[in-house]
Amino acid sequence: MPEPHAPEYRRCPVSGRWVIIAPVRAQRPLSLDHARPHHRERHESDPCPFCEGAEHDTPHEVYAVRRPGTAPDGPGWSLRVVPNKYPAVNPHGAAPELSPGEGLFASVPGVGAHELVIECARHEANPVRLTDDEFAAVLAAYRHRLVAHGEDPRWAYATVFKNVGAEAGASLAHLHSQIVATPVVPDAVRLELDTSADYFRREGGCVFCDVVREETAARTRVVAEGGGFVALAPFAPRFAHEVWVLPVSHDSRYESLTDVDLHDLARLLKRVLGAIDKVLARPAYNYFLHTAPLRVGDLPHFHWHLEVIPRTARAAGFEWGSGCFINAVPPERAAAELRAALG
Ligand SMILES: [Zn+2]
Ligand SMILES: [Zn+2]
Ligand SMILES: [Zn+2]
Repeated sequence: MPEPHAPEYRRCPVSGRWVIIAPVRAQRPLSLDHARPHHRERHESDPCPFCEGAEHDTPHEVYAVRRPGTAPDGPGWSLRVVPNKYPAVNPHGAAPELSPGEGLFASVPGVGAHELVIECARHEANPVRLTDDEFAAVLAAYRHRLVAHGEDPRWAYATVFKNVGAEAGASLAHLHSQIVATPVVPDAVRLELDTSADYFRREGGCVFCDVVREETAARTRVVAEGGGFVALAPFAPRFAHEVWVLPVSHDSRYESLTDVDLHDLARLLKRVLGAIDKVLARPAYNYFLHTAPLRVGDLPHFHWHLEVIPRTARAAGFEWGSGCFINAVPPERAAAELRAALG
């Protein structure tokens, strides 16, 4: 059994769902004011541990973009990746045995890596205000960390995600993304891998490629295009103004993006996030990356993508009870509104 307070993965004996029990997460500072749900807060109460000059407040950096001649963990950086001081998972220890004897209560130590990408040195809370180069550097940091985590045989997957605004789960406003590497492929990714593998067996092609082809021909749900990427309002979105961003050409692994691709993707993503800000008056939102699991190579049936979910409605009893989301905004209307708001 894990020691008390160490994180654990627990599998629900009824649904088969994995959860992470992580008591240390209760200790993290929450400086954002939660008073105004759904919209991003401007006021913060505490000194910011992510600003330049506060490097002593974070664990040692594992990756950084720095001016030549500056030392790690000091000023002079424009992006840093540091382990989370309040990790949901524990970076030390062997990969746990993931099929623990078929007991009722399956629990294994919560071994994993939890990192923060601090996206700029100045105190900035709006992703759209990053320059194109800064945004591309963030996307490059994701690529670097996915490659690095792929070299650790303990991890099967690394989830890259971003919370913008308290309602979306952010506890600090200073722009940052997070990466959580785990010994298991998360349930949400597993579901997409399985469903797309079924489609491939049945139809002989990649479901994402087919969606991109149909959507770019019909154009009703396309939000924006550029540099080999397309942003679209998906056919069956869970959230109002949900947007997916995908490469037009088949590619299962985000790590294979070139530097030129990353700049193109940064420009498109900034335009999409700017349109979401305009249409929804700066909502809280999340985005996350779905890509092939680490070290599996290229998959013919799976296509990496980024999902952006504005948090303008709360999941309520029906969503939690049924797993089925009710969305008041048809994606055709969402796409038209976002297109009209593109900068
Ligand atoms: Zn700051
Ligand atoms: Zn594809
Ligand atoms: Zn997905």
